[in-house]
Amino acid sequence: MPALLIDGKAEAKRVCEQVAQGVKAFAEQHGNAPGLGVILVGSDAASDVYVRNKVRETQSVGMHSFEYRLPTQTSESELLTLIESLNADNKIHGILVQLPLPPGIDVNRVIESIKPEKDVDGFTITNTGRLAAGLNGLVPCTPAGVMILLKQVHSELAGLNAVVVGASNIVGKPMARLLLSEGCTVTIAHKKTVDLKSLCKQADILVVATGVAQLIKGDWIKPGATIIDVGISRVDQDDGSTRLVGDVHFESAWEYAGAITPVPGGVGPMTIACLLANTLIAAERLASSSVQV
Ligand code: NAD
Repeated sequence: MPALLIDGKAEAKRVCEQVAQGVKAFAEQHGNAPGLGVILVGSDAASDVYVRNKVRETQSVGMHSFEYRLPTQTSESELLTLIESLNADNKIHGILVQLPLPPGIDVNRVIESIKPEKDVDGFTITNTGRLAAGLNGLVPCTPAGVMILLKQVHSELAGLNAVVVGASNIVGKPMARLLLSEGCTVTIAHKKTVDLKSLCKQADILVVATGVAQLIKGDWIKPGATIIDVGISRVDQDDGSTRLVGDVHFESAWEYAGAITPVPGGVGPMTIACLLANTLIAAERLASSSVQV
């Protein structure tokens, strides 16, 4: 049987429609829509595209978007001063600093300066700790989006063997924690893992976030497994053009998988949708004095 193609675009549209309804209700109740502040330092071309997409999507669900484009030579203290002002600004409910930052700026110090209640990327130590402890916080957007996609395929995740390939703080580790919280038996693999192929073959759910183009081949996959490809790489074609591929060799994986996300059109759209969902959650929590993040 051919694999089910998991349509991240359609799912992201559904999430955005729900967020738009929530935004409308929030605005009716509080007199103003939630606001997201996005900071971009420098002129990285990929970051520029990401920021433009985030601004467009934020506006499309009816939220206010505040964009701060700072020159490459911006000092760390100037950036921290801006974040401090956004932390104190009642019109702004979510703050996102687009990574990577130019050399010379301490990314950890910058992330930690964001008020955890407005940390819609879920990268601060407070939100990381809350996720690890199973408490309510703001969950990193990409893993949160992956969980929504998985729940479209599996009515029950408990008891399944999940392998997460990639152990970054922004994808792999929070991904593993979310799968664990659903009752999966979780293994995290990384570049030092020995015999990755055998490990992958045991996975009912395989989430791959390495940045290594087409690392996972079809015969690494347990027949019927659900494959979530987070990776995005641009590779050269024979005709001189380039195309986007994931960390999974899609054409061969398709023959083994039960369900699989495409690249593009899989996880990517879910990341932005979950950023908007997090901004709405942050706004609702900040507006409610009884609920603390
Ligand atoms: P990262 O570089 O921070 O981490 C990569 C991880 O992969 C590390 O833990 C490393 O040990 C592991 N790894 C590297 N090579 C490996 C190998 N050969 N075998 C096993 N493990 C290996 O990367 P990241 O920030 O987590 O991003 C990973 C990929 O996901 C990138 O392609 C990135 O562009 C993409 N990404 C996509 C989205 C999205 O919305 N679709 C969001 C975030 C990241």
